[in-house]
Amino acid sequence: MPLDTLNVDPETAFRVEQSGQPLIVYECKLEGVPCGMFVEGTTSAVSAHLRGHGIIGPDSAKIGCPWAGCSKTLKRGGLTRHILTHLGVKVRCSICGVVRCRHDVLRAHIRHSELCHFAFIEIVHGPEGRLLVPTGGTATHQV
Ligand SMILES: [Zn+2]
Ligand SMILES: [Zn+2]
Ligand SMILES: [Zn+2]
Repeated sequence: MPLDTLNVDPETAFRVEQSGQPLIVYECKLEGVPCGMFVEGTTSAVSAHLRGHGIIGPDSAKIGCPWAGCSKTLKRGGLTRHILTHLGVKVRCSICGVVRCRHDVLRAHIRHSELCHFAFIEIVHGPEGRLLVPTGGTATHQV
């Protein structure tokens, strides 16, 4: 076993083994409840992880960002995207290469630009991303 085995949720680990493709994961730095887990830099993974921390409620509810060292207050519905900026995950236009922090901002660029109209969104991983590689072992079913 490699020394720096990353602690990820079983679903993520399973997906890496299944696909045989490495994934980039980020250390969770939510305050108060250090979980020591690594999370994928996607909106679905982050939002599921926030739920795991009990950060739930109506999207319109105002909450303080739970990320260590951040004191921003924002709507819960925007928290997932905001956490992605803490992870350093960015998105890039496949045609002109412009980099933006948020999907919706880049999508607006693609929509409004004639040149980039057929671009797709490329993920730019943050500097603290760690590579989660498949172990290659036979997947054991744990129930
Ligand atoms: Zn966590
Ligand atoms: Zn924050
Ligand atoms: Zn572009």
